[in-house]
Amino acid sequence: MRALFGPRGPLAEHLAGYEPRACQVQMAEFVDGVVDEDGRGVVEADTGTGKTLAYLVPVLRARHRAIVSTSTKALQDQLWTHDLPLAARVAGVAPKTALLKGRANYLCLLSLDDQAQSPDLLVGERLTNVQTWASTTATGDMAELGADATPDVLSNLTRGVDTCEGNLCPFHGDCWAERARARAGQADVVVTNHHLVFADAKLRGAGGEAAGMPLPPDGVLILDEAHTLDEAATSAFSAHLDDGRAARIMNAPRVRDSLGPDHTRAMSAVVAASARAFAALNRTVGLNRTTITDEIGPGLTLAESAHSLLEACEAIEDQDTRAWVSRRIHELAADADRVFRLDDPAWVHFAERARDGSLTAHAAPLEVDRLIHGATRHRPSVIASSATLTVDRSFAYLISRLGFGGAAELITEPAFDYRRQALIYAPADIQPPPTAGHDDEPYLAGLAHRLTDLVHASGGGAFLLFTSRRAMNDAWRRTRSAFPYPRFRQGDAAPADLLQRFREANNGVLFGLRSFWEGVDVRGDALRLVVIARLPFAVPDDPVVAARTEHLRNQGANWFAELALPRAALLLKQGFGRLIRSTSDRGVVAVLDSRLRRRRYGSTILRSLPPAPVTHRLDHVQRFFESRNPHGRAHVDR
Ligand code: SF4
Repeated sequence: MRALFGPRGPLAEHLAGYEPRACQVQMAEFVDGVVDEDGRGVVEADTGTGKTLAYLVPVLRARHRAIVSTSTKALQDQLWTHDLPLAARVAGVAPKTALLKGRANYLCLLSLDDQAQSPDLLVGERLTNVQTWASTTATGDMAELGADATPDVLSNLTRGVDTCEGNLCPFHGDCWAERARARAGQADVVVTNHHLVFADAKLRGAGGEAAGMPLPPDGVLILDEAHTLDEAATSAFSAHLDDGRAARIMNAPRVRDSLGPDHTRAMSAVVAASARAFAALNRTVGLNRTTITDEIGPGLTLAESAHSLLEACEAIEDQDTRAWVSRRIHELAADADRVFRLDDPAWVHFAERARDGSLTAHAAPLEVDRLIHGATRHRPSVIASSATLTVDRSFAYLISRLGFGGAAELITEPAFDYRRQALIYAPADIQPPPTAGHDDEPYLAGLAHRLTDLVHASGGGAFLLFTSRRAMNDAWRRTRSAFPYPRFRQGDAAPADLLQRFREANNGVLFGLRSFWEGVDVRGDALRLVVIARLPFAVPDDPVVAARTEHLRNQGANWFAELALPRAALLLKQGFGRLIRSTSDRGVVAVLDSRLRRRRYGSTILRSLPPAPVTHRLDHVQRFFESRNPHGRAHVDR
């Protein structure tokens, strides 16, 4: 590995400006060892480590088949277009590769045909552009459409599993999604995402050969951005049922025609039970996600009546039609049973209302460790990697929550010189966030005041990150004329557009929520201050958070130490990660939540952050920005 990653090695030859990094070699050697022993490994490595090459090169060089999974489409595309070809050149191999996304990312030829015959007004003139692109694309991946991939184009020209016609589709042989799956089945390396990995495992668990599992059954599994696995697994293994699904299925011409008039009453009973179940939910669900606590009788009737229709499906003569209709009715019955049957303590049930007023009921697993373990245990080797996996230098949270017991562990050396490049400002002389129901005026006024001081000290170039829209909007209003720098606010434009304008401004101030805490990359001087307004503890009355907390309490566990604190520490670490993206970046992370200094758990959180000096004094921040030179440790708290 040292030779491959060395100053005269193939990576230096193929990557302009490459600088060897001890942490990258350390990680590559670790991955090499784990894979060689058919083991499981967890590795935390800084943003600047070059993690992707550190896991790809050893796996490719050993000529293992591999599934490489990450959390977002942007990261998938980066892996596919840049990192994987480079790693293959460095490893000196030419593997057969495939990029696999969810079905709804590919152009649906049946929908395109429908649109050509009766275009949707919202697709409008973009249809011509789509048709031109469709005649030349080699993948059918809608991401290639760029600006033409509007939400209306995507919703009218793609199909998810629910609406795909499968074998009955006249375009099945040419279908882009099917071709991508076929390529993945033959590939040596598949680049995919966590949701598909878990959806594949769910199908595998349900004996879903007939439905066609998307991923090859063997191969090393690499889970990048592994800090998102909890959320991805929770979502993939949850059951969801919206208020229109039963009617959509029962009114689908293929279902009606194939079941025939003998079953019209039974089909109407399914739709009526669904309407009654959601009418009952409607009376209890407010604007936020609401836990379902009482049994909803019509919901169980819906599950039973849908289930009883399955027998009628057996009489459908055409095999493909029978499979298509049975699958939809079976999934409807199973999901209705899961979301409305409340007797399994391993699940939390809740409902939420969309902006258009429609309702969806959900059932989410309380624990995902066994599900993740089950989804990955058939792989010869599994590597989970991220820049944020440890709390206070321990993988305990990851191992207990995500089922990585017994895995080999590595925390690489830092990729950056944090003592020289960064400063953490954690004041104690600021109002702590008030508890619910208390007057928050002093806190919000103090927050806006301190934000203003910090932005003046940095001369802009700041991300101000909030945990609630209300706090963000309040700070936005209070600081309206407080500083002379361009201001940007999440929600006022598309995130990519905001980021672009922020980068170009070089002295911009961006007010952001959760989506700016993670996965956002602004290198150089344009971002020199990251302010975290409040420690990012999860909202305690969110149904899933509340149920998981209660579950741990019932087990006699310390829910705060085992769940709330690690999650907040990891998210804070993600926020910190926005600041230092290269060896030449310098800046300040300010955490304007005095609990970090006043509560005992604050020291655990601070120890979880990169080893930058910590100060509670604003004049140290001002001096840091004035000099932008290494900050003397004598002036700081650590
Ligand atoms: S198989 Fe499904 S996704 Fe593919 S073209 Fe047909 S309906 Fe569309």
